[in-house]
Amino acid sequence: MTTFVYDALPGRVVFGPGAASAKLLAEVDAFGARRILLVAGASEEALARELCAPFADRIAATFSDVRPHVPVEIAESAREAAAGADLILCVGGGSTTGTAKAVALTTGLPIVAVPTTYAGSEVTPVWGLTQGSRKTTGTDPVVLPRTVVYDPDLTLTLPATLSVASGLNAVAHCVEAFWAPRRNPVSSAVAEDGIRHLAAGLPAVAADPEDGRARADLLLGAYLAGSAFAVAGSGLHHKICHVLGGAFDLPHAETHAIVLPYVLAFNAPNAPGASSRIASALGREDPVTGLYELGNKLGVPAGLRELGLREADVDTVLDDVLALAPADNPTSVTPDGLTALLRAAWAGTAPMTEET
Ligand code: NAD
Repeated sequence: MTTFVYDALPGRVVFGPGAASAKLLAEVDAFGARRILLVAGASEEALARELCAPFADRIAATFSDVRPHVPVEIAESAREAAAGADLILCVGGGSTTGTAKAVALTTGLPIVAVPTTYAGSEVTPVWGLTQGSRKTTGTDPVVLPRTVVYDPDLTLTLPATLSVASGLNAVAHCVEAFWAPRRNPVSSAVAEDGIRHLAAGLPAVAADPEDGRARADLLLGAYLAGSAFAVAGSGLHHKICHVLGGAFDLPHAETHAIVLPYVLAFNAPNAPGASSRIASALGREDPVTGLYELGNKLGVPAGLRELGLREADVDTVLDDVLALAPADNPTSVTPDGLTALLRAAWAGTAPMTEET
């Protein structure tokens, strides 16, 4: 018998090639905004100014000192820049959206977001702030952008390597949504379709970053991935990557891309419904091989060893991962099972699904 609780998230989404230049004015007007704080990183500012040209007189302040992971000092200066504003408009990647969220968190101002990467932050109520090397995250509905304008044309300039990294991260959000703590039939449906679009868009964008159709697939997939993650949350895969990344300062996107097929192989025997839906979305009979080969095709490093990790290192994180592993993970997380998973991910050998 299916039982679930589903907290649907509000928000308006406007999607389409050219949407940012054609529709942003109407979206800003819908808020009656007269004094807008524009948040756009230095490399995104020229694009943001171009998009805001039809309502330039309403840009009361521009904040461009965007940094990864939103240092608290940066959040403070962005909040000062928001004095007197009635709307935050952010144009850029996850770091820019994160800066806008930091302002909304203390001011309650509504956000209109125009994403230019595949991070997905624009559809989640999750904020993150960093003090020194310590990152704190939290969830607050006030930081959830009220309107998101998705325009695939804005992603045409995102380099192929960044696009692949960001897109594979979105795949991880979709796959985990099937066993994440707040999963439900809606988040699973969204995740499945997300994988379908990402799997279509990723190889095509890697082959030709100027392929507009593939860019639209990837951006739609990223939106769906962010939506699934926002509702379902994250599970074993994210816990493993979080612990490994923190312990050995590994690159975020590569770590996720390497580990994901091994977590799927670990869970697949006890999550047959998820497996067959992931397989169908990938257009493959075996979802584990499908995911592994997708990564290979996109140049994902073959194993954590290629990131400089030593085999013995993986044993040192066992206890930390075990402490964080969700109790209702489809396959129960034992020290032996986790060791085998991590060693295989270290070696980069083709992931094997063990029947249990
Ligand atoms: P990013 O925003 O740091 O952007 C990466 C680089 O790409 C930057 O140099 C940026 O200027 C450049 N860039 C952005 N758009 C471009 C474009 N269209 N063309 C060319 N260059 C472009 O990276 P990101 O991957 O978008 O976001 C990562 C951040 O988002 C992390 O801090 C992560 O924690 C956060 N995040 C938060 C959530 C959430 O729910 N809160 C979800 C996902 C990611």
